[in-house]
Amino acid sequence: MQDIATTILVCGGGIAGTVAAIAAARAGAGTLLVERWGFLGGSATAAAVGQFVGWETGSGRQVVHGIAEEIVARLVARGAADGHGHFVMSTGHRMDRVNYDPEALKLLLDEMAAEAGVRVLFHAGLMAVAAARRTIEAVTMLTKAGPLRILPRIVVDASGDLDLLARAGAAFLPLDPSESLQPATLMFRFGPIDFAAFEAIPPAERAALAREGVARGMLARAALHASRMPGTDDAWFNIGRVAVDATDPFALSAAEMEGRRQAFRAAAFLRALVPGCAAGRLVALAPQLGIRETRRVRGLYVLTAEDLRAGTMFEDAIAIGAYPIDIHPAQGAGLHFQTLGEDHAYAIPYRALVPDALDNALVAGRGISATHEAHAATRVMPLAMAIGQAAGTAAAMAAAGNLPPALVPAAALQTRLRAARAHLPG
Ligand SMILES: Cc1cc2nc3c(=O)[nH]c(=O)nc-3n(C[C@H](O)[C@H](O)[C@H](O)COP(=O)(O)OP(=O)(O)OC[C@H]3O[C@@H](n4cnc5c(N)ncnc54)[C@H](O)[C@@H]3O)c2cc1C
Repeated sequence: MQDIATTILVCGGGIAGTVAAIAAARAGAGTLLVERWGFLGGSATAAAVGQFVGWETGSGRQVVHGIAEEIVARLVARGAADGHGHFVMSTGHRMDRVNYDPEALKLLLDEMAAEAGVRVLFHAGLMAVAAARRTIEAVTMLTKAGPLRILPRIVVDASGDLDLLARAGAAFLPLDPSESLQPATLMFRFGPIDFAAFEAIPPAERAALAREGVARGMLARAALHASRMPGTDDAWFNIGRVAVDATDPFALSAAEMEGRRQAFRAAAFLRALVPGCAAGRLVALAPQLGIRETRRVRGLYVLTAEDLRAGTMFEDAIAIGAYPIDIHPAQGAGLHFQTLGEDHAYAIPYRALVPDALDNALVAGRGISATHEAHAATRVMPLAMAIGQAAGTAAAMAAAGNLPPALVPAAALQTRLRAARAHLPG
């Protein structure tokens, strides 16, 4: 088996892992980014989510900047995103968003990774992890050429499902008996749409139509939620719902099939009954089911919904968020959506990125140490990018200082993040 050494290994090229790798490489660390598909972005591209939400407080104060904002600016400059805007959710809440083209995002992430000097390995699935004495010593990926053993100094697990940490023996946070994993959704692209007619549907009629779709068994979620593809008359629809534990391979396989079934039924409903959609058809399915929630690591701090509601500005804050607590229930067609206040923001502490059971690992993205409820706020992509930027920067600092990530001084990390235009308290 071939061995390669790297200072930083980022496992998972989702939006968080890609930003983490860019940040680590920009900080001067040799960085290898491994990804099971042939493109970067994770849910942002492979699940074709199509909109970044959660940049602002309710009163319009932007709290996520840094590499996340750089990505938006570069997408806007090439006509692949429509810039910061707003929409009204099925719950009636006004939400900020940036619609983007997932295909253009793939290309941009390739370019940004290359410019930063990240070494990217595609078509590489995690195979095995060797860990001893709280340290990950080797990570074996299955590639086209067979197993490849990577010897990293610091590992950032950004696989969303935290597959690497699971094999390294990390501890994870349990669900409470009253909680379930958030369901998955297979996004689909539908068009052409007469957007003037579609957007003119009054909110009460839109809600009644969505309920009608559920009553007829054609919609799994009582919403007509869509993000328009910039420059087209198509939209990506997020109106399916499949309850699944995506770490169970056979359950995930069945869920992919159920997601496709739901998407075609939902498209038939749109065409038959929804104003503006009569000429449309299902143009594309996202390459994979979008997974909202799986493992959440047990870190040095567990972020809670109470922390978010209180707006606790931790001393080791590495990112600021403002997105509400947004829980798609595993059963039923509704949404549990709790706003947190007009100009309300909260902080993510660095300790929530540090697994308590390992000395050379960090987490980036949706798997950070947060309760089920807190995760329902922190999972959105602007925050995943901000957390990724912090994780990559911290990994590079740990490697440069020959320190375990837990001992990276928070104040020095904050100074580095601010210099890279991240938004932090104070
Ligand atoms: C259907 C849906 C709708 C959403 N809507 C919105 C929205 O409107 N706006 C918003 O901002 N957020 C939204 N979110 C949330 C957001 O998209 C995700 O929480 C976020 O993208 C997670 O990013 P991540 O990088 O942490 O993880 P992921 O996107 O899950 O990325 C993980 C990466 O790791 C790779 N990987 C996984 N396992 C392995 C392995 N074993 N070996 C190698 N590689 C591996 C994957 O291929 C992937 O590239 C939505 C999520 C879903 C699922």
